[in-house]
Amino acid sequence: MADPGVPSSFSKSLFFGHIPESMVIPYPHYDSTEKENVRLILDAWRKFAANEIDPKKIDDEAKIPEKVLQGMKEMGLFGLAIPEAYGGLGLSVTGYARCMQEFGGVDGSVAVTVGAHQSIGCKGLLLYGNEEQKKRYLPKLASGEMVAAFALTEPGSGSDAASIKTRALPQPDGSFLITGSKIWITNGGIADFFTVFAQSEIEKDGQKKDRITAFIVERKMGVTSGPEEHKLGIKGSSTTSLYFDNVRVPPENVLGQVGGGFKVAMGILNNGRLGLAAGAVGAAKTLIKLAIAHATSRRQFGRNISEFGLIKDKIGRMMMECYAAESMVYLTTGLIDRGVEDYSVESAACKVFGSEMLWRVVNESLQIAAGLGYMKEYPYERLLRDARINLIFEGTNEVLRCFIALTGMQGPGDRLAKLADAIKYPLKGYGLAVDFVVDKIMTQYYGGERLDQMHPLLKKEAVLFEDWVPELAKNVEKTLRKHGRNISEMQYVQRRVADIIIDLYSMIGCVSRATASLKARGPGAEGEAKLCRAICGQAAHRVKRNIRMMDDNDDELIKSIAKDAYDAMQYPYDVVFSQ
Ligand SMILES: Cc1cc2nc3c(=O)[nH]c(=O)nc-3n(C[C@H](O)[C@H](O)[C@H](O)COP(=O)(O)OP(=O)(O)OC[C@H]3O[C@@H](n4cnc5c(N)ncnc54)[C@H](O)[C@@H]3O)c2cc1C
Repeated sequence: MADPGVPSSFSKSLFFGHIPESMVIPYPHYDSTEKENVRLILDAWRKFAANEIDPKKIDDEAKIPEKVLQGMKEMGLFGLAIPEAYGGLGLSVTGYARCMQEFGGVDGSVAVTVGAHQSIGCKGLLLYGNEEQKKRYLPKLASGEMVAAFALTEPGSGSDAASIKTRALPQPDGSFLITGSKIWITNGGIADFFTVFAQSEIEKDGQKKDRITAFIVERKMGVTSGPEEHKLGIKGSSTTSLYFDNVRVPPENVLGQVGGGFKVAMGILNNGRLGLAAGAVGAAKTLIKLAIAHATSRRQFGRNISEFGLIKDKIGRMMMECYAAESMVYLTTGLIDRGVEDYSVESAACKVFGSEMLWRVVNESLQIAAGLGYMKEYPYERLLRDARINLIFEGTNEVLRCFIALTGMQGPGDRLAKLADAIKYPLKGYGLAVDFVVDKIMTQYYGGERLDQMHPLLKKEAVLFEDWVPELAKNVEKTLRKHGRNISEMQYVQRRVADIIIDLYSMIGCVSRATASLKARGPGAEGEAKLCRAICGQAAHRVKRNIRMMDDNDDELIKSIAKDAYDAMQYPYDVVFSQ
C-alpha cells in the first residue's frame, strides 16, 4: 500500500483520502522546561502591560510610546524566536506563538509591531541566512537595537507578489543597486533592517530571465521612508512606503540564492502566518471575557441578558470558534517543532480560520454590548477596527483559500497525470497503477482509514472526520477528472475545497486536543469534550454542504449577476422608478 505520491504534509494527505494519524495524535505535548520559561516571560509581560500599555491612548495618538517599545526590548521580547547563541530567548515555534497570543490579547498595534519584526521581518534571516549573516545581524535584532521589516508589496503588486517591479542591478564588484518603491510596510518608519525583494536578470539555460532575489538591506545603505499612513486600525503600528534610489547592497547581503527570492518570501509567510493566527486567538480570548462580563451584568426585561437564548448562542459559538482556532494553531506549531517541513497548507488554514474567527468574535461581542459597544469610550470598536487587517495582510483570505485548494489538489492531479501515463505505458507504470487501484478500493469501498488513538468519548466525532476524508478525496478526484487543468481558474470549487480542508483540520485539531485532555484529566476535561462535539458536528454539516455544492450550485448564475453589474458599472435596479 506504499504510495510514493502521498505527501509528508497532514493536510495534503487528506486529498488522497489518507489520514496520517501519528502526525496529529497525540496532540503535541509542550516541552516542560520551555513551558516554565514562557510562564516567566508572560508573567513579566502581563505586569509590564498592565502598568505601561494603554491601548486606547495608543489608538488615539496613533503611536506606541517609545517607553513601551524600549521596555519590551529590555525584556527580550524582540528576540523571542532568535536562538540563544545569537542573543535571543530561543523559543520554539510553539513558545513564540504562545507569546504572540498574549500580545494579541493586549493590543493589536503592539502585536503587529513585534510580529512584523519577528514573524516576517527577520524570519528570512533565520530560515535562509548563512552563518556570517546571522552573526552580523541577529544579536542586534534580538536586543531590538535593530527593528526589522518585510518589504514585498508595491503599488502595482499586492497579492500578485511575483509581479514586483523593484529592480536589483548587479554591479561588476558583485554588489547590487536597488531601485524602486514599496508600500504599506509595517515598521517602515522605525525599522533599520529590511528584508527586501527585487527583480534581477538571471541567465538560465542560455536565456536571460527576470527572477526575484531577497536582500538584507540596512536603512543606512540609503533606504528612505514616506510619511505614516492613516489607517482604520492598528493605528499605533508604523506603516509607510519605502524608497530605494540606487541603494547599493553588498553581495554578502543576498539572502538565499540569487533568483531564489520568491521561495524565500513564501517560506517566510508560511511561517509568519502562525504568529498572526496566534495573535487572533489572544484577541478573541480578551473579547470573550469582555462579552461575558457585559452579558452577566447588563439587565433587560428584569434579567441579565446572559440568560437569553440568543446571547447564550453567541457566547457558546465564540467559545467554540476560539477553541477550534487555538487547537489548529498549536497542532501546527507542534508539527513544526517536531521537524515537519511541509506545513504551508496548515499554516494558511490557521491564518484564514483564525482571522475570520476573530472577525466573527469581535462582531458578536460588539453586538452583545450593543449601543455601548459602538461608543469610543469602550474598547469594542477599537478591537473591531484592529481585527480587520488580519483578513488582508500576509496573504488575503481569498488568495489563501485558492492556495490551500490548489496546493492540496496538486498531489492527486499529478497522480492522475501519472496514471494516464501508466495506462499509456502499462509495463513501466504497473506498480503505480496497482497502488492506485488498491488505494481506491480502500478509500471508496471500505470507507477509508480509521483513527485508533482518539478517546472513546469522542468516537462519534472521530467517525465524522474519518467519513468525510474519503469523500473529499473522491470528490477532488472527480472534479480533477472533469475539469483537468481548468481547475486553476475555478475559484468557486477552490473555495469549497479550501473550506472543507479548514473544517477537517479544525475537527482533527479538536479531537486530538480533547483526547489529550480527557486522557490527562478525565471528567475534568468534559468542558473540552463538549466543545469538541459541537465544533465537529457543525464542521461536518459545512463539509457535507460544500461537497454537495460541488455538483449542485448557483455558481454560473452568480457569475452572470456579477457580469451584469460590471456591464452596468453599478447596481442598476430601482423599485420606484423602473416599474
Ligand atoms: C496595515 C497594512 C500593513 C501591511 N504590512 C505589510 C508589510 O509589512 N510588508 C508587505 O510586504 N506588505 C504589507 N502589507 C500589504 C499587504 O500584504 C497587501 O495589502 C495584501 O497582500 C493584498 O494586496 P493588495 O492590498 O494590493 O490587494 P490586491 O492584491 O489588489 O487584492 C484586492 C482584492 O482582490 C482579491 N484578489 C487578488 N488576487 C486574487 C485572485 N487571484 N483570486 C481571487 N481574489 C483575488 C484580494 O483577495 C482582495 O480582496 C500591508 C498592508 C496593510 C493594509
